[in-house]
Amino acid sequence: MSLQTTPGEATVNVAANLGAVNATITAAANAAGRDPGEITLVAVSKTHGPERIEPAIAAGQALFGENRVQEAEGKWPALKAVHPEVRVHLIGPLQTNKVKKAVALFDGIETVDRPKLARALAREMAAQDRRLDCFIEVNTGEEAQKAGVLPADADDFIRLCRDELKLPLKGLMCIPPLDEEPALHFALLRQIAERNGLAGLSMGMSADFETAIEFGATHVRVGTAIFGPRAPWPPQSG
Ligand SMILES: *Cc1c(COP(=O)(O)O)cnc(C)c1O
Repeated sequence: MSLQTTPGEATVNVAANLGAVNATITAAANAAGRDPGEITLVAVSKTHGPERIEPAIAAGQALFGENRVQEAEGKWPALKAVHPEVRVHLIGPLQTNKVKKAVALFDGIETVDRPKLARALAREMAAQDRRLDCFIEVNTGEEAQKAGVLPADADDFIRLCRDELKLPLKGLMCIPPLDEEPALHFALLRQIAERNGLAGLSMGMSADFETAIEFGATHVRVGTAIFGPRAPWPPQSG
């Protein structure tokens, strides 16, 4: 499948944008009295094709984020064949019937959010002898339409994933509600991580990653600020 591009997208300078985002990360870390080296940039390449991703890799970007298994399957095997060092995280919802593909394709899953999925991931990682970095998604805004474990259930779910299923659990992830102050959600995520002894905090997107760094983010997921606006993904079957 050839990827669609929007008119004007050709003018996006991915390398320059990436440089600017990295400089902003460094400045935000310094302002917060943190070591910029603690913060990992996940370049969110969803809807963008190799013509946008290749310049990011050439500029040194090593970790990418995708939100659909099927879309990632269509572009990352070829890219990884040429750039075996590059890593990709799934940052979108995962259905249990796609766990096998996801474990084969990704290097991290940031959206572990229910026991059935956690058990399927544990089984499949053992079967494929692969250990993917896992993050538990917390629905900090308790939004009915959003994925993620509720804050009140987070401690029990962390225990299940880490202690019982022995998933390689790195930390927690959240996507704050669009219309609320993200800092409140970042602070809540950090509190849940701290009381459970988890070091990783995947939080912050193009609009709020500086705030997220102030609140302790170890992974920021930035798409638009690097790759430009996203074209609507064409309707897919299956
Ligand atoms: C798309 C997406 C991002 C990146 O959003 P931008 O606003 O483009 O930076 C981050 N996290 C998740 C879960 C996403 O789906």
